[in-house]
Amino acid sequence: MSNQIIRKAPSLGKAANMPDYNITRRTFSWVDAKSWLSGLPDGKLNIAHEAIDRHVAAGHGGQIALRWLGKEGTRRDLNYLDLQLQTNRFANVLRNQGLCRGDRVYALMGRTPELYIAALGTLKAGCVFCPLFSAFGPEPIHSRMEIGGANALITTARLYKRKVAGLRNRLPELRTIFLTDGEAADCVTLPPLMRAAPEDFATEAMDPEDMALLHFTSGTTGKPKGVVHVHEAVVAHHMTGRFALDLKPGDIYWCTADPGWVTGTSYGIIAPLTNRVTMIVDEAEFDAGRWYDILEREGVTVWYTAPTAIRMLMKAGPEAVGARDLSALRFMASVGEPLNPEAVIWSNEVFGHPFHDNWWQTETGGIMIANYAAMDVKPGSMGKPLPGIEAGIVEVTETKVTEAKKPGTIGELALRPGWPSMMRGYLHEEARYKKCFRDGWYLSGDLAMRDDDGYFWFVGRADDLIKSAGHLIGPFEVESALIEHEAVAEAGVIGVPDETAGELVKAYVALKPGYEPTEELKLDLLGHARKRLGPAVAPKDIVFRKNLPKTRSGKIMRRLLKARELGLPEGDISTLESDEQ
Ligand code: ATP
Ligand code: MG
Repeated sequence: MSNQIIRKAPSLGKAANMPDYNITRRTFSWVDAKSWLSGLPDGKLNIAHEAIDRHVAAGHGGQIALRWLGKEGTRRDLNYLDLQLQTNRFANVLRNQGLCRGDRVYALMGRTPELYIAALGTLKAGCVFCPLFSAFGPEPIHSRMEIGGANALITTARLYKRKVAGLRNRLPELRTIFLTDGEAADCVTLPPLMRAAPEDFATEAMDPEDMALLHFTSGTTGKPKGVVHVHEAVVAHHMTGRFALDLKPGDIYWCTADPGWVTGTSYGIIAPLTNRVTMIVDEAEFDAGRWYDILEREGVTVWYTAPTAIRMLMKAGPEAVGARDLSALRFMASVGEPLNPEAVIWSNEVFGHPFHDNWWQTETGGIMIANYAAMDVKPGSMGKPLPGIEAGIVEVTETKVTEAKKPGTIGELALRPGWPSMMRGYLHEEARYKKCFRDGWYLSGDLAMRDDDGYFWFVGRADDLIKSAGHLIGPFEVESALIEHEAVAEAGVIGVPDETAGELVKAYVALKPGYEPTEELKLDLLGHARKRLGPAVAPKDIVFRKNLPKTRSGKIMRRLLKARELGLPEGDISTLESDEQ
């Protein structure tokens, strides 16, 4: 645990959406938060209405909603009015093809404007939207479409031919496949249908509890679960966008996540649009130079990304920023994995702002614990619970769940259920869903600690915790210490069985460019870790790897490191990104 604090200037506080955390926390209510949206008559709601239509109705149709940056340098702007008309057309196309309220519409495509139009048009039509990573292979696509009972799919001709055509006879509920380009047998080509469709569409008035989104978890700990979210979730998306990301109308906001991962939908579509920002969508994959160019050229003011990307930027070094002017940047946030204190301190030096870590899960639908624009940052801490969110550290036994009130206690991170974006189920896994809720708590499966000041610190996933010679060791602590070493780009830490100690700490390390995996460096790293962590917690062994196995959402798959170490079956690897060892 780092004891450094990054203090926020009082002037910042005045400008932030939440100038004083304690006051907002005391006065906040979800009923008020709902009133920040416009809703539809008779208590009905539709996410797409809040994201687009109400802004157009209020006269903001001319503001750019989405600025798309193509891989090859093309650029396309859609203002709120364009987005309204395009999503209306898409909703009409769905209707014309016989898709009704409640039908499930999947997307399998890269980050192109059509994906965003499809997502919001689907919601307008009252259908359920389920995005998939375009890089998934046929089997992960099939299993997710089968679990969700996909009725329609929107994809490209190329992806269809390579990945979906061979699956069709195994997906009896799949009625319509829309191709955004080209043609294929038994598919409909979308562009002519879009051109022919009317520009008017009466957005479906949904019950707040109607299903809106289906998201699959990252598969870090096992087989991905299908998580159900409802239209009411928009209240939490909007509120957390405002408080945790400090989004203000007119911001130039860039969320680097793909909509195939929940972050790319909750914070790559819904929260930004409901807060009426201009969002940047980059079609290309990570590249440090390209990313810095985008930040500068587009004048990005709020940037939301993930620890893997931040570590890659660190690996590229501060010189990659060069002479670029990034002074428009006002707020930077990170999610998905623990953010090493080193990364927070580094960002503060390079950008003049720290990355603000925040914590949530596919299941929570929105950010639950965060570092805020006007609150001091303790590097390595996830921050404090959002207003309206009660988080606790609990001890879980067979018979009961008890809150550990004493600061510094490590236990399971739990939340009091009831916020609007809480999952409404794991599809077809009722028993598993029920198991998450006990004695008035939602149990997250993550271990954490709360300090004297109420800041939460991530310790590890319950599954990843290492028990060595009577010590409980969270891999994050060990990985963060290793990352402090100048040679280390990334580290993944696991426990391997040992007769005397129970488990021994073992680290897998990827090096920065210019460093060679020598015996000498290994000894140096072992020594560095021992000095930082003490002999009980420091790794006993270090193995060098070119890359660490990660999910497509960028999370280190420790269970895979472990399975490979022990020669056990690899389990579900549908979300694994190709990993060079
Ligand atoms: P699966 O549930 O399929 O194993 P997953 O848990 O990785 O996959 P997500 O819902 O995408 O799927 O990720 C949520 C998890 O990511 C959290 O439970 C936590 O373990 C981790 N996480 C997210 N944000 C943070 C953070 N700021 N610090 C530490 N861990 C985080
Ligand atoms: Mg999970």
